[in-house]
Amino acid sequence: MTDTVVLPRIKRRRSKVQGWGVFAVEPINKNKRIIQYDGELITHKQSLPREDRYLRRGEIWCFTVNRRWVRDATKGGNIARFINHACKPNCYAQIVGHIIWIRAARNIEAGEELNYNYHTDGEAAMPCRCRPGCKNKL
Ligand SMILES: [Zn+2]
Repeated sequence: MTDTVVLPRIKRRRSKVQGWGVFAVEPINKNKRIIQYDGELITHKQSLPREDRYLRRGEIWCFTVNRRWVRDATKGGNIARFINHACKPNCYAQIVGHIIWIRAARNIEAGEELNYNYHTDGEAAMPCRCRPGCKNKL
């Protein structure tokens, strides 16, 4: 028997935070798997020049998997790439081997924008727009 996990329905639309966002179409229970962050699996060494290039456009597409690997969502990415950062998010990332799962950090209502903490620790030096007046940097 194959492992068929039914994932909640989500959709991409314009975000109030920035650019595109991803929204719940139906209620999502706390800790439920929502989507995998897909993208090309590359090394940090390969990722660094790409990250610099994306950052110059004010974009973050590379997700650190572990000390060796990064996923670049510009290649083979899905709509998880459009989930915005928030300092107090309603989702979190769970890494299982080379798979990045985005899961619900609490019960989420239909229509809510999804977000998780990118944990970039200010490396990108971009202002956080997760809420009015947020002083943090991405
Ligand atoms: Zn913030």
